[in-house]
Amino acid sequence: MSRILIIEDEESIADLEKDYLELSGFDVEIENRGDVGLKRALSEEFDLFILDLMLPEIDGFEICKEIRNHKNTPVIMVSAKKDDIDKIRGLGLGADDYMTKPFSPSELVARVKAHMARYDRLVGFSAAKNDVIEIRGIKIDKTARRVWVNGEEKNFTTKEFDLLTFLAENPNHVFTKEELFREIWDMESIGDIATVTVHIKKIREKIEVNTAKPQYIETIWGVGYRFKI
Ligand code: CA
Repeated sequence: MSRILIIEDEESIADLEKDYLELSGFDVEIENRGDVGLKRALSEEFDLFILDLMLPEIDGFEICKEIRNHKNTPVIMVSAKKDDIDKIRGLGLGADDYMTKPFSPSELVARVKAHMARYDRLVGFSAAKNDVIEIRGIKIDKTARRVWVNGEEKNFTTKEFDLLTFLAENPNHVFTKEELFREIWDMESIGDIATVTVHIKKIREKIEVNTAKPQYIETIWGVGYRFKI
């Protein structure tokens, strides 16, 4: 169930908001003081905040700013004065919406639902993460086909990328040049296993500090190569 925190010092308003939101299936908590509300907003998991502007101890401006410093959770700010809403917008505090009191509870519920749906889409989108391999300073983004070595992006050809990724995905496993050739190059392709040696050399030039003393792709003499973990 989605959790909402209402930070509002006018208890009758807070209770009314709570009643309507609960009827719509939300789990709602109320705090009447700004400092306590802010503390809970930062330390607990909520899906949305409804934030009054004028509050005891810490006002809504400050709370909104603090929440934004730590979280992307939607914030709906409410105020009794239309002028305040303009002021909030002007400050660019990062609130997602603004409402002037008095507002109809059903309008509040509609906006809450809209913001939650939008946020869910955003979170869902970022949750579809790229497939990334990270080994000692090397980061391989398989989805984007990009490679970083100690934070610096390096360019790899298609085969170099495939070979590096294959070795990194099978760390400590020794592969012969024949095996690597079969794995990375088309079985039918005409080539010889020297191609593997050439590609390993190119990869090392990009990922190793000292290619004479490779820290990542080791040569196992007489056998082949392995990615050391
Ligand atoms: Ca107030």
